[in-house]
Amino acid sequence: MSLEQYIRDIQGFPQEGILFKDITPLLASPNGREECLNLLLSTLKDKKIDKVVGVESRGFFFAILLADRLNAGFIPVRKPKKLPYDTISASYDLEYGKDTLEIHTDAIKKGDKVLIHDDVLATGGTAKAVCELVERLGGEIVQLNFLMELSFLNGREKLGKEEIFAAMTF
Ligand code: 5GP
Repeated sequence: MSLEQYIRDIQGFPQEGILFKDITPLLASPNGREECLNLLLSTLKDKKIDKVVGVESRGFFFAILLADRLNAGFIPVRKPKKLPYDTISASYDLEYGKDTLEIHTDAIKKGDKVLIHDDVLATGGTAKAVCELVERLGGEIVQLNFLMELSFLNGREKLGKEEIFAAMTF
């Protein structure tokens, strides 16, 4: 079974006009998870990742799996007022309004080699804000990886020179 077959299209979620890519069938399948994880890991050999940054909330699932297999730390990036210790924050534009993400100030040390993971790269606004947080703490971004990239939304163009890998492209 191809990885794409574990992704379910939901028309009109979370609002009308949006075709949402649902990753829950992938999460529910041990074979699907293993295949996807191995594909993501195949691009990270000898990269000596210190920290895997996972983005709330669907980014957490595979970020934890990746951190475990890479013997790296797992660092959560969360919505405002969720993290208990001192934080820095970055805001990014949505279609209507703004959103903000936060990270603990002690989560990344200067020079740490960082992998950023989220489930989906869409317009790239989320990933760009996470890059900003990691860079402000002095982390070296080795790669951004995603379960899938929605290439028609051109998220890559919003990001800089960072290496980007997606297990699936739609
Ligand atoms: P962006 O900031 O790149 O436009 O959107 C990416 C963020 O929105 C990710 O954190 C992702 O979880 C969420 N997202 C946007 N579209 C989808 C989708 O179709 N499916 C899923 N699972 N998440 C999405």
